[in-house]
Amino acid sequence: MPSNFLDLHIVDFCQLNCKHCYLKKGKRAMPLDMLRAFSEDFLQIDFPLPRSDLILSGGKPLLHPKFVEACNIVRTLNGHITMSTNGILIPKFIHTFKRNDGI
Ligand code: SF4
Repeated sequence: MPSNFLDLHIVDFCQLNCKHCYLKKGKRAMPLDMLRAFSEDFLQIDFPLPRSDLILSGGKPLLHPKFVEACNIVRTLNGHITMSTNGILIPKFIHTFKRNDGI
């Protein structure tokens, strides 16, 4: 089903250097209070489409220094997490996804 979505670039860095990447890489990580505020504001807006979703993105979102806490915020506000990732660090966090997301 189509949905409104907010692509949250929670870091601007990544461990890869793909040729096609549009990201202007840096060293910034979004503070958690900013993540919460953006997410809450977005989810309260009455968009034309019936569903809204939050996407954790980057760079590589799993490199955020407080990635687990970022997931907890999004999961609490939105019921689940959705992520855009190259997948390299999924094994490092798989226990978290198994415990909280039924994976
Ligand atoms: S994995 Fe994604 S963010 Fe990282 S360099 Fe490649 S395209 Fe860019």
